[in-house]
Amino acid sequence: MSKSQPLNLKAFVKGKNFRSLGRGHLEDAKKCIAAGDDRNLFYAALEIRKCIEALIYETAKLYVDDMPEQDFSTWQPGRLLAMLIEIDPMADRTGEIRFAREDGDEPKVWHSLGQDKRLTLGEIKENYDALGFFLHTLTIHQLWKGKVQKVASLRKRCESLIARLDDVLSASAWNFTINQTSTLTCGGCGQPIKRRTGILKGPSSAGTAEALTVNCFNCPASYQLTATSDGKVLWEEELEDIPCPYADCDHIMGVWKREIVPGTRVRCSGCSRVTMIALTIRTAPDDEG
Ligand SMILES: [Zn+2]
Ligand SMILES: [Zn+2]
Repeated sequence: MSKSQPLNLKAFVKGKNFRSLGRGHLEDAKKCIAAGDDRNLFYAALEIRKCIEALIYETAKLYVDDMPEQDFSTWQPGRLLAMLIEIDPMADRTGEIRFAREDGDEPKVWHSLGQDKRLTLGEIKENYDALGFFLHTLTIHQLWKGKVQKVASLRKRCESLIARLDDVLSASAWNFTINQTSTLTCGGCGQPIKRRTGILKGPSSAGTAEALTVNCFNCPASYQLTATSDGKVLWEEELEDIPCPYADCDHIMGVWKREIVPGTRVRCSGCSRVTMIALTIRTAPDDEG
């Protein structure tokens, strides 16, 4: 019997209720904690990690059309959320949705539709690997050093995470986004790069804290996004000018900032020869300035 054609990946992600999957894992974590036996704490840690993963998958639904398909194989929630933050710097921020009638009462009466509560990248970094520590036996080296797994601290961490995840899952509104985007055809690979720009306050200039750094997912290109005084978004390539090191060539090569690491090979478009970026050490006498 032939298998039926699976749904297109992005359509599948959009139709999936990851939030309810997360809620199931949270309920299982609560049962493990309630069992009282310390051995069940390790299962609680596992269920909490699965709940965190499901919540980040839920957030990823918002950005499904802006992500390359291979990124949906990422299961580490921290890595996935960092990618979502590349697309939208507000991806891990909690926000309140409010509205007021334009022609209504003065002063304006704001009505809340609820808070969209999101786990932050900081919270995931602080807790996800720390829980993972309890999912394995100690290494031979740790055992030799006399280390033990501190179950009391695990219980405390699990209880506070359960309360936090309950809070996130209790939100009456979720996955809201203000869809202000800017798209550019990447100068490095020709693929479109689409990013949320709601966080950009204008006017701003490249290289300052107000600018947004955007990395292409398909090639080493990166850009500084800034807002102009007339509300437009400016994309500036992060290219460095590097003179071709061959003595008989005076060409200046444009190299992406992210490529300037030892070992990168660059072909000069002036003389067609290949050069390699390397760290060097040289003498620097005091009187050199
Ligand atoms: Zn690119
Ligand atoms: Zn050259």
